[in-house]
Amino acid sequence: MCNYAAAERVDTESIVSSVRDALARQAHYDALGISPFGNMFDVSEVPTEARDAIFDMAAKTDADIFSCESRPETLSGALIEETVDRLKGKRLFVNLGLETANPWVQAHCVGKSLSTESYRSATSSLREHGAFPVSNILLGAPFLTEEEAIESTVGTIRWALANGSHLCVLFPSNVKGWTLQEWLWERDIYRVPSLWSLVETLRRLGPEMTRSVALSWYSASPTDPHRLDQVSDPLRDAPTTCPRCRDTVIRSLDAFNAGAGFGVITGLAEVDCACKKAWAERVAAQTVTADPLDSRVLTAYDRIGTELLGTAWWDRQRAKVRSELEFSYDGSVVPR
Ligand SMILES: [Zn+2]
Repeated sequence: MCNYAAAERVDTESIVSSVRDALARQAHYDALGISPFGNMFDVSEVPTEARDAIFDMAAKTDADIFSCESRPETLSGALIEETVDRLKGKRLFVNLGLETANPWVQAHCVGKSLSTESYRSATSSLREHGAFPVSNILLGAPFLTEEEAIESTVGTIRWALANGSHLCVLFPSNVKGWTLQEWLWERDIYRVPSLWSLVETLRRLGPEMTRSVALSWYSASPTDPHRLDQVSDPLRDAPTTCPRCRDTVIRSLDAFNAGAGFGVITGLAEVDCACKKAWAERVAAQTVTADPLDSRVLTAYDRIGTELLGTAWWDRQRAKVRSELEFSYDGSVVPR
């Protein structure tokens, strides 16, 4: 779903100078987020000298909080300790791209390798050194029904908060160009979740859990519905409701994100709009008509295998992929 594909090669000096230029645009910062697309602590992405220089520059700003992204495997106790020292008293938030805590959904719907063990070890190591682990969590992985997507995300947020996460950032999925998700969307195999599913996810989490949840990527730009406020790339599709209630929903989600509390979500759950009724009916109908998830995934893989990778290749791989899907699936989308 992420279109972080080909980019020009950059060297240490150009990485450092681009950060220096960006920082010079503003004199004051409350919080500062500086990160490459993937992994701040992977030296093949950010060489050590560039990383050190970036942390030193960040330390000189007046921001209270510094955040970056990382895969859990590249974090070590020593590296975290060194980073906390370099930041000279700023609070360090490290975002881990968990997406889902269900290993089957992680492997076969998101297509990502991330072990829950390395996640646990990263969160405990961050906490041990006074840093704050943040989990990025996805709503709307491919092949899940909307009900499964909601349940899977609710279960994942509960799991993440019980396994060391200080905060969860919830991302409702969208469709970016040049992604496999776009290819599926063009063929009606993928559909972005409704913002009502985002509201329902928060409602099921309840007032206690949602205190540790922030939202991202839920609001398309008012001037261009194919751009998200926080994302520069044009989008093919993004979560929404209907034109009649959209402003109300977005304003309420903005208020929730600004700390207005669970009352906002209760208020949204009581909004009466035709699009919400249609959403509820669609979610219910999908739950009744959908095949079991493993066979649904295999059907989609059949199309991807045949149309994108070629019949000859797919014919050789299909039996193996099919057995992987069947034997590892326990019927659940919620982490155990
Ligand atoms: Zn509506």
